[in-house]
Amino acid sequence: MSTEGASAPTLDEVRAEASALDAADPLRAHRDAFVGSETPLVYFDGNSLGRPLRVTAEHAAAFVREDWGARLIRGWDEQWMAAPFAVGDDIARIALGAAPGQTVVGDSTTVLLYKLVRAAFDFAHAADPDRVEIVVDRDNFPTDRYVVEGIAAERGGVVRWIAADLAAGVTADALRAAVGPRTAVVLLSHIAYRSGYLANAAALTAIAHEAGALIVWDLCHSIGAVPISADAWGFDLAVGCTYKYLNGGPGSPAFAYVAARHQSALHQPVQGWMGAADVFAMGPEYASGPGMRRFLSGTPPITAMLGMRDMLALIESVGMDAVREKSVALTEFAIRLTDAWLAPLGVTVASPRDAAQRGGHVTLSHPAMRAVTARLWEQDVIPDYRDPGGLRIGLSPLSTSFAEVADGLVKVAAALRALD
Ligand SMILES: *Cc1c(COP(=O)(O)O)cnc(C)c1O
Repeated sequence: MSTEGASAPTLDEVRAEASALDAADPLRAHRDAFVGSETPLVYFDGNSLGRPLRVTAEHAAAFVREDWGARLIRGWDEQWMAAPFAVGDDIARIALGAAPGQTVVGDSTTVLLYKLVRAAFDFAHAADPDRVEIVVDRDNFPTDRYVVEGIAAERGGVVRWIAADLAAGVTADALRAAVGPRTAVVLLSHIAYRSGYLANAAALTAIAHEAGALIVWDLCHSIGAVPISADAWGFDLAVGCTYKYLNGGPGSPAFAYVAARHQSALHQPVQGWMGAADVFAMGPEYASGPGMRRFLSGTPPITAMLGMRDMLALIESVGMDAVREKSVALTEFAIRLTDAWLAPLGVTVASPRDAAQRGGHVTLSHPAMRAVTARLWEQDVIPDYRDPGGLRIGLSPLSTSFAEVADGLVKVAAALRALD
């Protein structure tokens, strides 16, 4: 397919190309493993809520029968007390590039962000009282910004805002200009939720470290979509979602990563019995547990970890590099079709065109996209909408086909034309 110079490809040409891409896709067969993949629905929102795996229904039923139903309270000793650490280590090995003992599955992303950013702020500020600033960008996800503002108000800190370009994200120069001897902690998203901009996490981590600051990475939009090397890139702390590209299901708990070198020095604020050194001693005072235990607070959400375990097993069988390869091919295809069909209708690509700077979703910009999104949902084409005028096309690599991309973008064009 040629998009430059020549006239736009016909629908038949694009369908043929999509079929050829699907036929050549080594991961193609895995799509059938997801609930709903047999229907004509076009799912462009795997970056907000991944589809369930079929096997998860069987595992959930077996869990109710055999684990919860038959083992009852004994299940805690037998396996559930260890689950936050065991599943955390699975995430670390399969998708995070982290050695064991540094990752735990716990609360929501929001709550874990609060716990880790506050722990990092308190540590840096205690070591050097001049370090009062928390650096975050204005385009970071709302919960990240709100959590930082709350911590600053609570601890007498100051929020130092980076004005990020909506389509470009936080660059090395922008971070370098924002950090210094007053920085306690930096909080950045690895992939910008709006544009899909993929930050150079290793380079930005080094810049935070050169300024003597700690950095917390929000991996919500990158875990399971792009390979991550948390240990090799020198991460201090990180938090990520499991209901997006890890297909854990609505509200499945987030994970926290704390580099081994920091664990014993950090104290998170939600002191609960599950974070205590000896959980069942039930002693008069809180003493924080060893390693990652201290980052837990209350009873772990065991049933909500079932879906992610299945997706992690699938990702492990395939490998994150293969997942990323397909992800790049899907977003390239979506951008080519956009240039061919949607650009003449006034749509622009509000995501990086360089695949090395782009995550698993593509944002298409047009003033009418809010209305287009509503129309698409009525036709079982499910992207989502983000201001200003952004149609987000989230292409979960293992559950999305090239034919689905073509079908969905044809409908976007039709919806735009119908609004005229
Ligand atoms: C999805 C997402 C969140 C969600 O936080 P919850 O506590 O799970 O609601 C946070 N940050 C980013 C960057 C996200 O993409």
